[in-house]
Amino acid sequence: MQCTVLADGYCSYPAEWFFPNAGHESLARALDERRQPRESVLSPYTCLLIETGRHTILVDTGAGDSSRTAGAIVARLEMAGIRPRDVDTVILTHAHPDHIGGAVDARGRPAFPNARYVLSELEWEFWTGTRPGLRGLRVPEDVRNQMESTARRCLDALRFQLEPVAGEVQIAPGVRALPAPGHTPGHLAILIGGGGRKLLHIGDAAVHPLHLEHPDWENGFDLDARRATVARRDLLERATAEDMRLMAFHFPFPSVGRVAARRDGGWSWSPGW
Ligand SMILES: [Zn+2]
Repeated sequence: MQCTVLADGYCSYPAEWFFPNAGHESLARALDERRQPRESVLSPYTCLLIETGRHTILVDTGAGDSSRTAGAIVARLEMAGIRPRDVDTVILTHAHPDHIGGAVDARGRPAFPNARYVLSELEWEFWTGTRPGLRGLRVPEDVRNQMESTARRCLDALRFQLEPVAGEVQIAPGVRALPAPGHTPGHLAILIGGGGRKLLHIGDAAVHPLHLEHPDWENGFDLDARRATVARRDLLERATAEDMRLMAFHFPFPSVGRVAARRDGGWSWSPGW
């Protein structure tokens, strides 16, 4: 089994969207320590290619046309020797635009024509039912509207290739989807590998390494911050207990690293394989 990280692009967000409940001074101090700007967060979008020998699996598709600074996934796959038609499985951790936007091409058709698109059943129901309640999001209304319209447009285009899943489920040998709700109702984490070598892809259960150091710092894009915090803790405890590598879609590229529990209750992040 071979895993390859692929940079779809990035986007810049106001820092208060990423850390809405962090104290102004402690956030400024934490960003200063990391030599990062105080006002904005440059957030990468990192997709994961899993080649098992029998299956070619893509986890998340990047932003597609919904961002001017992202949407490079097809070009990146090509650099890895993969054509869109070679991908047989696309796993969508959730239906936010930066994860699902690249699942549909410029003509509104599935970008990976031969793939089954795996998504949580709860996620499908949430976005395609009567208007999804997005009030829990601490981002401006136009951003919420864009999230809703992109999810609906993409899910509609994918409907004949969608494979909704429920609970913890095997997607392919060595690849399991784990419910990790809170960021969205059907948000999934992905556990890859087996035996002594495992990679836990936490999706958007944390969107910045500071969310590991300060597990009580919420993310404005979490629909249900309390459940998201529980899911994040569960995933990190599992990763440290079983000595897994961790991947997080928005962490600095290559978005893979290790976590270690700290005495203050948080976790430290060490990037790299
Ligand atoms: Zn995201």
